[in-house]
Order: sequence, then structure tokens, then C-alpha cells
Amino acid sequence: MSGSRRLCRWCNLPKRWLSAWLTSCLVLFALPVGAAEVDNVRLWAAPDHARLVFDLSTAADANVFLLDDPRRLVIDLEQSGLNTDLARLDLEGSAISEVRSGIRDGTGLRVVLELARDVEPRHFSLPPNDQYGHRLVVDMEYPGESAVENPIDPIEAMIREQEIAAERAHREGTGEATSSVESADTVTQPAKPHPKRDIIIAIDAGHGGEDPGAIGPSGTREKDVVLEIARRLQRQVDGADGFRAVMIRDGDYYIGLRQRTRIAREQKADFFVSIHADAFNSPRPNGSSVYALSQRGATSETAQWLAESENQADLIGGVDGSLSLKDKDEVLRGVLLDLTMTATLNDSLSIGGQVLDRLGRVNRLHKSQVEQAGFMVLKSPDIPSLLVETGFISNPDEERRLRDGAYQQRLAEALFSGLREHFQRNPPPASLLAWQRDNQRSTAGNQYRIQPGDTLSEIAARHQVPVAQLKQANELNGDVIRVGQVLRIPRS
Ligand SMILES: [Zn+2]
Repeated sequence: MSGSRRLCRWCNLPKRWLSAWLTSCLVLFALPVGAAEVDNVRLWAAPDHARLVFDLSTAADANVFLLDDPRRLVIDLEQSGLNTDLARLDLEGSAISEVRSGIRDGTGLRVVLELARDVEPRHFSLPPNDQYGHRLVVDMEYPGESAVENPIDPIEAMIREQEIAAERAHREGTGEATSSVESADTVTQPAKPHPKRDIIIAIDAGHGGEDPGAIGPSGTREKDVVLEIARRLQRQVDGADGFRAVMIRDGDYYIGLRQRTRIAREQKADFFVSIHADAFNSPRPNGSSVYALSQRGATSETAQWLAESENQADLIGGVDGSLSLKDKDEVLRGVLLDLTMTATLNDSLSIGGQVLDRLGRVNRLHKSQVEQAGFMVLKSPDIPSLLVETGFISNPDEERRLRDGAYQQRLAEALFSGLREHFQRNPPPASLLAWQRDNQRSTAGNQYRIQPGDTLSEIAARHQVPVAQLKQANELNGDVIRVGQVLRIPRS
């Protein structure tokens, strides 16, 4: 989260944003248009787009267009001058191979980007906010490119699609639905071998690029620490049999809140976790919290306030030039989707409980139960989703720990251990975990390979064997077990 902006109760836009907008309108009417200076240019390179941000001393009109032979993008700024060195811009990983600038018509600025590939340009202006002044944003989308590095295998996608349909039909419980459960089962089960598919975990590092998120007293940025924790979680997930991670963002760039859930859905994620670090305007609060979506209202005042702040990210990241004004349809759709979301929410709360339990072993808990609030990033109808505030970056002690690699690792392990516990108990039908569970039931003398975060009592509970019997069967004296060790699971 970031800052302490309040929303206007009438139009749901932040008051500060509105007053900035009104002021800029008044200024435009009252004064002749002054010359704008480009004080800085920033570039964010994402897998599916590049974003160029011009920091301006005042608002300026822009004209953006493509030219061929050689392929280039021209950005004309009226009544503007350049007050920064474009050669210092790091073009690495973007579609831009070179940047040039010149004076146009005596008073205008022309910036020319040489392009290494096709782009679809889009531009918009952003008014000042807490972090930046007037900005011109030029987005270059890469046609046909996915926001994630390795899109999901189409066969896995099909299986997952059928599972979702079957689960939904099961929940709705209609006659028609029952037959679709059966047809899904016949496709995925008897004749063909079990798909043993991976459970897909979508990992969303909050904020990014233009939006730093909360900033700690020593200058630690939320967007940086959450990306590090997300990458550690990714390694945990990918290292475990039957799981696969999808990174929603894997670099320092911004992705819109709705786009984040869209990517998770495109990737057929089984679970979506958004990782954040809390902040407050006093240094004292500390501890971790876990949030699920609320359909009615926030469980607490803090939860409400936090959701409002997190939902502001799009205003800072500036994903959409027209902001939320044209979102009326989306709101209506959201209400309809809420009906489907009830079942998903139960799963979210269940996973949230497990995650909170594990986090409580690593850090103090800010709230001892899974909180609920209207986070936009959690609005996925069929994917259980959680938002985890790993700690308070505004607390000097917690800020220091959040930067520490070993501590980040413990947080990541706690997150994974919680969600794995849930999926081991409730594996999706076509998953490897479901196959393992069913296979273990049917054969005698099973074995289990110990995974990071396992405890003896959990392994015993999962296999419905008393701990004493499990210890006896494996000649264990204490409770110490090690990762990779293979336990014999006796029949109870
Ligand atoms: Zn945040």
C-alpha cells in the first residue's frame, strides 16, 4: 500500500486527484500555456510492452505516431524543451534500439525512438500525485506477446478448463450441471492415463515500475522487496513435485490490477497470491496480515482503508489514461461475478488460514484471522486468491528484516507451506497430487518424500496415521526430519 489518500464519497476518485485535476483545469483557463520542460525520462521494460514516462514541469500536448523504413516512433511535444540527457536511458530489454531528439517548429520538442520490433503505441497524460508531477506516458505494446515468459501448455489448459466447469457445475448442483460433471470425468479419467497435471500458483508481486508502493523510513521500496519474496516463492513452488509457478510480473514494470487477475486466468491458475508490504503513518504497527476478498464490506476499518490504498495503485502506475471513469460496466459485471465467487471465497479463506498459521511461525501476526476487504486484485471469480501483507515496511525494524534475504526466504517458505497444505488436502482432480493421494490409498506400504516445511505431525495427519506409529515404522526417536528423506507410511 502507499500514502494516505482518501476517496471522494461521491465519485470514488481520490480527493487529492480531484483537486489536482480541478487546479490544473483552472490554471489552463487562467494562464497562457507556458513552455514545458522534460525534466526526466524513465523506461520500464516488460515482456509484453515497454512504457516510457516523461516527467514534465507542466502539462504539454503530445502527438505520437509511427513511421516506417526504418521503423520508428515519433513523440512530438508542443511548446517543450529537453532538460535531461536521453543518452543515459537504459534501453536494455525494450523494443527501443536508439533514442534521438531535436527541436521542431522552433518551439516544440521531437523525440524519435528507433524500434527493433513492431509496436502498438498508446499515450496519455497523468496529473501530479504523491510521487510525481505532470507526466506523459507512452506505452508500446508488443503484438502477440504474452505478459508472462512461458505461457501454459494448451493440453494442461484444456484439462483445467474441464475441471473448472465440473467444479462450477457441482457447486450449482443442477441436473444439467451433473451431466457436465460426468462428461468432464469421462474425458479426464477412465480410458486415458491420469493427467497428473501441475497445480498452478500465480504469484503477483505488488506494484512495480512507476508505482513504488510503500516506502520505508530508510528508503526501502515495497515493489523491490515484494518482487524478491515473490521470486523466492517461485523457486519453492517450482522445486516441489506437482506444482508450477507463474509470475504475474517478473521485473520492475507496472501491470494494471485487472490485468493481473486476467493473466492468472489466462494461465489457468489454481491459486493467486498477491504479495505486499504494509505501511502506516506511524512507525509502531508491525506484523503480517492475510486478506481475502470481501463481497459485503471490510471486516475492519484498517482493512477498508488498506483496500482503498492498494486499489489506488492504478492511479499511480497510470495503467489507463481515463482511469476508473469508464468502469461502470466492469462494476456491473463484478456484481454478477460475485455470485460465482462465494464458493471461491471459501477456498480463499481456507488457504488463508493455512498461510496465516505458517506466517505466525515466522513473524508476529498483525491480525490473528484472515481479514476481508474489497481488493480489486482479488476479484477473480474462479481462482481462490489472497493478498498477503508480509510486514510493515514503515516499522524500522520490520523494514530491515524485509530487506534481509534469509528472512525473505523464511516468509516465502511459510507462504508455500501453507498453500501446499491446503492443496494436499484438497487436490484438483486431474493434478499429480490427486493421483498421488488416490494411489497411496490403494497400495500398501506407501512412501513419502519429505518436502520443505513439513512436520512429522502434519505428515501423520495427512496420511491418517498416528504419529507414534509413523515414528515406529521409520525408527525415528525424536521429531527431527530432513527434506528429501523418504518415510515409510504404515497402514493404519
Ligand atoms: Zn502494496
